[in-house]
Order: sequence, then C-alpha cells, then structure tokens
Amino acid sequence: MSIKIVPQEQLTQQHNKTSIIPNIPLVYYPSPKSLYANRLARITQLTMDSPLSDYLTFCHKIVLAQSEIVAHEPLHCDFAHLVQQGAAHDCPPLSLENLPLNDTWFNYLHKIIAMTQAINTEIDAILNQLKKYTKDELFAKAQHLLMGRYAEVSSNESLFIWCALSVYYTQLASLLPGKAVADTAQQCWHCPVCQSSPTASIIHIGQNTGLRYLHCSLCESEWYVPRAKCTNCDNLENITYYSLDRELSAIKTECCEKCHSYLKIFYQDQDPHLDIVADDINSLVLDMETEKLGFAKSGINTLLFSIK
Ligand SMILES: [Zn+2]
Ligand SMILES: [Zn+2]
Repeated sequence: MSIKIVPQEQLTQQHNKTSIIPNIPLVYYPSPKSLYANRLARITQLTMDSPLSDYLTFCHKIVLAQSEIVAHEPLHCDFAHLVQQGAAHDCPPLSLENLPLNDTWFNYLHKIIAMTQAINTEIDAILNQLKKYTKDELFAKAQHLLMGRYAEVSSNESLFIWCALSVYYTQLASLLPGKAVADTAQQCWHCPVCQSSPTASIIHIGQNTGLRYLHCSLCESEWYVPRAKCTNCDNLENITYYSLDRELSAIKTECCEKCHSYLKIFYQDQDPHLDIVADDINSLVLDMETEKLGFAKSGINTLLFSIK
C-alpha cells in the first residue's frame, strides 16, 4: 500500500480506496505552532539530563527560530492551482515536480543564522560561509538536498539549509487542502506530501492506538505504514528490533536483514511526551550500537543532518 494525496473535489469512488483500511487517518498534516512548541519543551526537558546537552541547546536555538518564523512571519498560500497540477502529474503535491522552489525560505535561513550565532567558533565558521554564498549558490544547494543528492552539500551546511526548508514545507503542508487516499502500489517509504525521507516511525496512542506512522524529515507530516515491515524496501521477513535497556523501551531500532537498513521506531505508550526529532538525537547511542551490527540508517533528522 502507498498513500496518495488528491484534491478533495477529485475524490471519486474509483480513487477512494481507503476502505481497504477503514476508519484510519492515512496522513496527519503538521500543526506548526504546536509542533515547534512541543519540540522546544521536549528539548528543554531532555537537556537537563543528557550527555548531549550542549548539542540539544544548539538545537533549541534553531527550533526557537523556526517557532518565531511561524508566529511572526506565517506563510500564506493559495493551493488551488498547485493541487490541480498535483493530480495531473500523479506526484506528491509538494514535490518539486508540482511546486518548484521559490525564495521564501531564504528569509528563514537568515533568521536561523541570526539566532545561532556566537555559540562557538565552529558554528560561526559555518554561518559565515553560508552568509557568503550568493542566492543562486544557496538555491542550488537546496535543490540538491530536495532531490536527495545529499553528498553534493556539506552536512554542516545542509543542517541549516534543511531546517530553513523544513519550516517552509511544514507550513505548506499545514495549509494543504488535499485528502489522503490509499493506493495499491508498494513503496510507502517516501512522504506522500513532499516526497522526502522519514526521520523515524512512531506507534500512536489515543484515537489510533497501536498504528504505526512514518514522520517526514522535511514537512513533518505523518503517514500510515503497516507495522513489522521494512520502511526502506517493503520486506516483511526477518525484521529485528533492538533497544538499549529493556524490551518495553520507548525507542527501538527496526532493522531489516534484507536491505541492511534501519530506522528508529518510537512508542508513545511507553512515553507520551516523545518528540521524534529531539528524541532521535538524544538516543544517538542506540544508532551507534545498531550500526556496529552492520545496519545503516535510512532516515534523516533535520537537526542532525548526516548522511552516510
Ligand atoms: Zn513530507
Ligand atoms: Zn529492507
């Protein structure tokens, strides 16, 4: 099963195949204000008792910049034309095929740069380099990242560029009028809203107790994907789970013996305050232990942009 976003008015009996998994919301669009507020609170909480507190403090400054952008410079967008194009091209509505990148995110990058200065000399050197690039150079780097050509951009610079892009795409996703329907194909590992890679997956509580959703690293939407299935190759066999301490851990790595990739899986029933981005960083030891076993991470974390 994969998930496709279609305009509300174009839903037909033929398209509407959600009956194969009745009453399940297939996609959750982000709510930027509460998303960043919750992330700030979680980072603050984690920072008090974490060996990575210095890095989390740096992350807090970036998320604070993102939250201020959403509060004081909110994006307005009319999607009517965009959504029609999306349906015609059969691509996710926020993919580059449907929505060529404009320069809105440049202002966001400058805001993030301004709010992360004077932390240390290493970060200042990256920020100074970013400030020297022309708009065209920054635009080319953003295009590389959005098209998955991560090696074309230094990971230090990617982090800031991706965070600026993310606050742009997160707002776009929150404004999207489309509805998600289930398609019949496989390959559910890319975001049905923006076509980016996930950060991790999360097992929900509340209305959808026990259901698993992937969380987008760019637009922060979440989309349904069945459990016990590799989110990188659709393999259903020989999926292994690792955690650091106990069987009922709130964070595990889900490892595929077929493609040798892994992605973290978060369990809200074990910790309802989890934030995928913040907790992914705070559990880096689990990544190191999983990678020692020969698995490579298949996800991206917006606040820890390192692609191997
Ligand atoms: Zn997305
Ligand atoms: Zn796999």
